Amino acid sequence: MRLRNVTGSREVIAENEYVVQDEKELKGKWKEFFGNDNPIFIEIGMGKGTFIMECARQNPDINYIGIEKYSSVLIRAIEKRQLEPELNNLFFIRMDAEEIEEVFEKGEVDYIYLNFSDPWPKARTAKRRLTSDRFLSRYINILAEEGGITFKTDNKDLFEYSVETAEECGWRIKKITRDLHNSEYMEGNIMTEYEKKFSQLGNKINMMQYFPPLSK
Ligand code: SAM
Repeated sequence: MRLRNVTGSREVIAENEYVVQDEKELKGKWKEFFGNDNPIFIEIGMGKGTFIMECARQNPDINYIGIEKYSSVLIRAIEKRQLEPELNNLFFIRMDAEEIEEVFEKGEVDYIYLNFSDPWPKARTAKRRLTSDRFLSRYINILAEEGGITFKTDNKDLFEYSVETAEECGWRIKKITRDLHNSEYMEGNIMTEYEKKFSQLGNKINMMQYFPPLSK
């Protein structure tokens, strides 16, 4: 994601009705926030929000929260979101996912999407990868009992690292493909912005769906 400073984006975000401002205060109260008992799905690192907006359109009985670290990117998602005020199941949070356990209670999140997460290729920054063991432990602390993750990327090294990490941490891989667009899992697939871009360049898309270790 190219990061250009977008003038005034912080101010717009601070006042926007679709951006949750007091996310840590809502820990344990997200059902109350949405005003219903519907499941809560989140996308971490949603970028400009193309994927999560389509999810929200297709699934009015699921509540969606898009998480993005950078104001300059989030502002683009907000611009699109404002064109569809009828969607009442989609909100955004500007935050670093490092703090995810301060925002959601154990069991509060039913599903997590990680789409085209930043690869952080250098070993010394590996802990920032959203599929690292540090992040997997955090996800266990927010996911519901049946909850899981779908991870997509065109980056082969990041994908193999993520598969190994999942296995080492005892996660159960239920679906895996190194060529999603020519696989049985393509039906119902919602393309992300990066997925469109990289598949048009001829890159294969990797996908893994996985679930936390069964608790003893
Ligand atoms: N998911 C989108 C897609 O597939 O088109 C965007 C992919 S983009 C490569 C990754 C996004 O994740 C960027 O917008 C980046 O700012 C965001 N991101 C990376 N690390 C993050 C973190 N720790 N917390 C929240 N967002 C993060």
